[in-house]
Amino acid sequence: MTPSLTHASAEPFWTGDVSSMPACPTMSADVTCDLAIVGGGFTGLWSALKARERSPGARIVVLEGGTCGQAASGRTGGFCAPSISHGVGNALDRHPREAGTLIRLGRENLVEYQRDLEHYEMDAGFELCGKLNVASTPWQAEGLKAMARNYARFGIDCTLLSGAALKEKLDSPAYSAGLFEPNYALIHPARTVSELRRVCIELGIAIFENSKVTGLSRDGSEIALETSEARVRAGKVVLATNAAVPLLKRLSMAFIPIYDYSLVTQPLTDAQWASIGWTGSYGIADCGNQFHYFRKTPDGRMLWAGYDAIYHYGSSRDAANLQRAETFERLAEQFKAAFPTLADVNFSHAWGGIIDTSARTTFFAGRAYGGQVAYAMGFTGQGVSASRFAALAMLDLLDGRDTERTRLKMLRRAPVPFPPEPVRSLAVRLAQKGLEIEDRTGRRPAFLRMLDALGIGFAS
Ligand SMILES: Cc1cc2nc3c(=O)[nH]c(=O)nc-3n(C[C@H](O)[C@H](O)[C@H](O)COP(=O)(O)OP(=O)(O)OC[C@H]3O[C@@H](n4cnc5c(N)ncnc54)[C@H](O)[C@@H]3O)c2cc1C
Repeated sequence: MTPSLTHASAEPFWTGDVSSMPACPTMSADVTCDLAIVGGGFTGLWSALKARERSPGARIVVLEGGTCGQAASGRTGGFCAPSISHGVGNALDRHPREAGTLIRLGRENLVEYQRDLEHYEMDAGFELCGKLNVASTPWQAEGLKAMARNYARFGIDCTLLSGAALKEKLDSPAYSAGLFEPNYALIHPARTVSELRRVCIELGIAIFENSKVTGLSRDGSEIALETSEARVRAGKVVLATNAAVPLLKRLSMAFIPIYDYSLVTQPLTDAQWASIGWTGSYGIADCGNQFHYFRKTPDGRMLWAGYDAIYHYGSSRDAANLQRAETFERLAEQFKAAFPTLADVNFSHAWGGIIDTSARTTFFAGRAYGGQVAYAMGFTGQGVSASRFAALAMLDLLDGRDTERTRLKMLRRAPVPFPPEPVRSLAVRLAQKGLEIEDRTGRRPAFLRMLDALGIGFAS
């Protein structure tokens, strides 16, 4: 193993960077409630909070299979996008007719996200610090120019950077061009979960942890949820289970679990930060199909993540997949290439997480059980801010409200299902090979162009 990884902890950095939360009880006795929410990540906790705002007297219960934030929400990079559509370009490519609406709603969602954090005095580490997108090839630099043109069409502030202006923001031999967008935020993932959870509890929402729901069925006019020790009867149910095996069988082909991995360095000195010209607190991402995203932690470390997107045969979600030595080694080598002045830096943390990848690269939502159950999933690696929007959309659906959110085709139209194995693995491998070729040559292979024409995408 690369020496720089020898002492890396397998726990996400973020979890160890918050004071431990007192555990919530396990569901051990039958309960009846107005709304039951399955899943205690961002989507489930936002759903609980927003449901409380709508119904101050409602009995609301959250059932979390492990502990809140143990899955994707506690493992993310914390890039909090002004987008619900995986960016402006993706909205234009995949949802051209409603792209303007999607882009506006994504930007409004980020404003409201910040407003909610302030309103509830949540110390979530939210900072509207901007994002720097960097290119390492001439075709990626052209892509940034196209991005700037799209941003200009929608009045989105951004600045193209090269030469000395880029070096002032990031000095790396790996990158030759950049685009800085000031309206982009970062959050501290575990602090956000912890604060959402705290506020929910203060607002009288009953959260149960280590209470996995194993079955969902109709029980008269209500919906019954089974855990190993108890039964919950609810008037309405939100399913916020993200990349887990869905409780509704018909959703099992709608997304696949893709593993994404992160490294965090030891704290860097001021001189080390200065050596790479990274002066502000903005997040950075490079712009290949296989991309890295990197940011600072509150105590001066660097999170360096992404690139590999690993699918395991049969959609395996084995806990062992959360560690992948081969990927950690690759990330460490790529880190050294991007930052030669930091070649001796060691990594303190190395972990993985599961992304719920839909074949459309944006989340979808819908209803079941005669409108008493709502679900939202398929965030495909951009769910930090979109989870709040998805929560509101699910509550609209449960309330039978006709809103701008529920009218979105992006949300209502189910993504193209993934085929069963062994074709699934083959299709993923083919798509990944195509993306790799495009990154290397700047040309999109015919297979990917065919998928594009069918409205099928693959990303992490
Ligand atoms: C490594 C990584 C990096 C990422 N980086 C970013 C980023 O920088 N920016 C961004 O926008 N997005 C990012 N994402 C995506 C983002 O983290 C997710 O889209 C978001 O956290 C989804 O929130 P969630 O609440 O829907 O899912 P989760 O946080 O996965 O929560 C779902 C919860 O449901 C629970 N659950 C599942 N099934 C059951 C059941 N049957 N009974 C009870 N509980 C159940 C699980 O235990 C889990 O806690 C990243 C994801 C990963 C994995």
